[in-house]
Amino acid sequence: MSINIKQGIKIIENIAKAIEQNRDYLTDLDSAIGDADHGINMSKGFRAVSEKLNSQDFKNFGELFKTVGMTLISTVGGASGPLYGTAFMKAGTSAADKTDLDINDFLTILESAIEGIKLRGKAQAGDKTMLDALIPALETIKEALSQNELPENILEKACKASKDGAVYTASIAARKGRASYLGERSIGVQDPGAASSHIMLDSILQSIKSF
Ligand code: ADP
Ligand code: MG
Repeated sequence: MSINIKQGIKIIENIAKAIEQNRDYLTDLDSAIGDADHGINMSKGFRAVSEKLNSQDFKNFGELFKTVGMTLISTVGGASGPLYGTAFMKAGTSAADKTDLDINDFLTILESAIEGIKLRGKAQAGDKTMLDALIPALETIKEALSQNELPENILEKACKASKDGAVYTASIAARKGRASYLGERSIGVQDPGAASSHIMLDSILQSIKSF
């Protein structure tokens, strides 16, 4: 399995669509434990990303991811903008001048993205953030790669791990972000960012299956 730059652009377009479809769901989660804007923030950011995709050419994945990252940082007001923005910027640095990505590249890219989020947000696993969907996905990919599993199966498992991680966030109290102001009262609702991270990983999987 290898993804070329044209398919990479399609993957980002599809992520933007998935975010749009889940806009109200993400905002509902944030209205329960935050300030009711996560879906709005993500939709605003990815609409701006879609416009960039239509008006620019991308020679490699470094350029593509960095454009996504810079656009999210400059258009999203909430915490999720700089966090996802940094994740895509780090992914861009990691992908650099690559014009094709395989599952090993995806592992490296996801690892860099997570490092970026940790550095920017000072959060760890178990703080009830987007990291609780992303870290299990990363660990699953590492484990499955070491077992020489097929790339599509690996992504399928990673997507499931991110779903389980997002569901798990409902059982814990937030220690970072706005939901942390609620402390124990944040228990019972999924973290909006963990939900959006799962939606993005699921969208990547669906795109790859369709190629
Ligand atoms: P805001 O909290 O500014 O309103 P959003 O609602 O768009 O921004 O995003 C909230 C999400 O951002 C949370 O659900 C959580 O997943 C993520 N988040 C917030 N703070 C952090 C942090 N320090 N580290 C990682 N993720 C965070
Ligand atoms: Mg919010």
